[in-house]
Amino acid sequence: MAEPNPHKLITCPYEMSHQVEHYRMHIHLQKCRKQHRDCNKVSCPFDSTHVVNEVELDFHVTVCPKRLMFDREVYIMDDYYQPAAAAPAAPTVVPCEENWDEEATTSYDPNQAKKGSHVITKIKGATPSERRKARMEGVKNFRPLEN
Ligand SMILES: [Zn+2]
Ligand SMILES: [Zn+2]
Repeated sequence: MAEPNPHKLITCPYEMSHQVEHYRMHIHLQKCRKQHRDCNKVSCPFDSTHVVNEVELDFHVTVCPKRLMFDREVYIMDDYYQPAAAAPAAPTVVPCEENWDEEATTSYDPNQAKKGSHVITKIKGATPSERRKARMEGVKNFRPLEN
């Protein structure tokens, strides 16, 4: 949220005829407040320790430091969120079942399938001795089928 224009004239909450620049309003309010001592007091919605005259609340929330922090947090959240929103995931191309069948049929090679059974399986994360053992078993299985 953009900060209020500091030179924007706003109306004093105590006297409609008081038009005060935004950045001076807090000074003005200190004077004007003294002439309106019997106002209702309310707590700031952003920080309950901010007790202001009810008529000043609208102005207060525009300058409340907690409000500014709150806005900043929202902005960061927006910023964080936007990349995902700005870059929607590419549509996933899912081959239809017909294509799958067709490809499986056309690329099916009995000889290739036979060789496939001879492939020595690589074991990820296995210790060297486990890998060696697996390799030896693969070789052992490989040979009878080699002829
Ligand atoms: Zn005033
Ligand atoms: Zn406040």
